Amino acid sequence: MNKSGKLLYNSLNDNYEESLKFKDVSQLGDTPYDVAIVGAGIVGTALAYKLSQYKVKTLLIEKNYDVGEGTSKGSSAIIHTGFDAPVDTLESELVTKASLEWPNLAEKLKIPFKNCEAIVIAIDEEQEKKLQVVYDKGIKNGVTDIKKLSGEEVKELEPNVSEKVRGGVLVPRESLADPFSSSIAFSEIAMQNGTDIILGVEIIDVENKSEVIKSLVTACGKKIKTKRIVNVCGLGSEKFAKIYGGENFDTNPRRGQFLIFDKHSGTKISRIFLPIPTAVTKGVLVSPTIFGNLLAGPTAEDYPHSFETISETTTEQLQLLKEGASKLYPGLNEQPVINIFAGVRSNCTQGSYWIRCNDNSPGILTVAGIRSTGFTSSPALAQYLIYKLKDELGLKLEENPDAIDSRPENKWPGWWKPRYNNKEAVKENSDDGKVVCYCEQITKGDIIRHLDSPLKPRTLDSIKRRTRAQMGRCQGFDCMVNVAKIISYHCEIPLEGISKRGPGTEISSTIPSNN
Ligand SMILES: Cc1cc2nc3c(=O)[nH]c(=O)nc-3n(C[C@H](O)[C@H](O)[C@H](O)COP(=O)(O)OP(=O)(O)OC[C@H]3O[C@@H](n4cnc5c(N)ncnc54)[C@H](O)[C@@H]3O)c2cc1C
Repeated sequence: MNKSGKLLYNSLNDNYEESLKFKDVSQLGDTPYDVAIVGAGIVGTALAYKLSQYKVKTLLIEKNYDVGEGTSKGSSAIIHTGFDAPVDTLESELVTKASLEWPNLAEKLKIPFKNCEAIVIAIDEEQEKKLQVVYDKGIKNGVTDIKKLSGEEVKELEPNVSEKVRGGVLVPRESLADPFSSSIAFSEIAMQNGTDIILGVEIIDVENKSEVIKSLVTACGKKIKTKRIVNVCGLGSEKFAKIYGGENFDTNPRRGQFLIFDKHSGTKISRIFLPIPTAVTKGVLVSPTIFGNLLAGPTAEDYPHSFETISETTTEQLQLLKEGASKLYPGLNEQPVINIFAGVRSNCTQGSYWIRCNDNSPGILTVAGIRSTGFTSSPALAQYLIYKLKDELGLKLEENPDAIDSRPENKWPGWWKPRYNNKEAVKENSDDGKVVCYCEQITKGDIIRHLDSPLKPRTLDSIKRRTRAQMGRCQGFDCMVNVAKIISYHCEIPLEGISKRGPGTEISSTIPSNN
């Protein structure tokens, strides 16, 4: 039986019990870590999960107050097959490999997953000619189950597609998954296998970088000893690499804006509609989401590398996005938008999947340019990085026979497998019958279960991403205060201390707390 890893939060955050606060490095014990993973996006958390299958002393450290809060929270959430990846690249190899792993992995993680298929759609003569190129590339990438379709065949499968459709390529294994709970599940299992996790703490320096044992210096001045460092900081990887003097590379953020449509819109198409890709981008797609909504996006707007935060949306781009997406599905114009958001891809000028072992210092592994496919590739990329750690950074790998690789059955989220309509469940726990978020039908029982879950989420966003409360049609207008009150009451935190995503984002202290 494994000893569970420690969970520590930035000690400045009053929302956490004293025992969860990172006050002193002695809380981490005397032995240096074998591997410290800096950045808990989908890549860092997948690495922690896979590494926890071995007897390796691992730390996962993240500057945000939850895992998956960087680029990983703002994607199209498609598990790609890799049919359109650049041929003969590491990206193509890893995406194709991971796409085969995901159905089984999702079952283990208790992550909602749906194989909905995709169609690359041609709506004019020029595009029709390119379908053969799309098909040939898919075959070269080893995705041999793709199939060419005539315009009539596309219409038969998808009656609401554009009348102009001239043909398509069907990609049967393209799937949808829940990007939020993926990082959470990876982290929970890693922690249960002994990985320590620190949240809300930024790494700002590396001391003794040429020595076998280095020190990660945190923004709060603590020094954490480790033999190896993996930089999986996404958009922050360039800044971090500069700190330890890694090889130069440029991160050029590429913003992608999205429109989310109401739930009934999600029934209008059943497959992902993909445009013919260009040399720069996969283009604007229209897709059902795993949550039952309809999504259109993303745009592809390039920014110079000095722009680290460009996550706001713009009316002009959203308008262009709607025009582009409605070429594939014209009915989109009648569907009600319930939310808009932007994600930022970590585009590396030197190339995607830009990985450097012993990056100008022994024991440091830099991972950059995980731009458009990192959600899909994460389990295969994690395994690839583990082999690099072993072969090039001298990590001894011995399997941990006690490690678990799955979460228990009761981890399926309530929105996917609801309990409120199950008489037995409600009899056992009356909170499972108390609906808090009416749009998504999320109960008090769901929220409390997540508050008590291993990563001890305490912010409104962390509860939103775990339960979907505040993510429905009203976007939290109706339930946000009640969710805050449940967090406040259950975790004994004053209501005015409840924040959206950590210190500095506290909700108004004027909310009445007496009902
Ligand atoms: C618009 C858009 C659409 C996409 N669609 C898809 C899709 O459909 N399918 C797919 O497979 N992929 C998709 N992607 C790509 C995918 O989302 C990314 O490749 C993936 O999320 C990258 O994960 P990451 O872990 O590398 O980065 P991140 O998620 O950004 O994680 C890096 C983490 O490092 C932390 N960090 C940074 N600096 C420090 C520091 N100094 N100290 C501590 N922590 C630090 C950050 O806070 C962050 O949480 C899309 C991306 C975008 C933007």
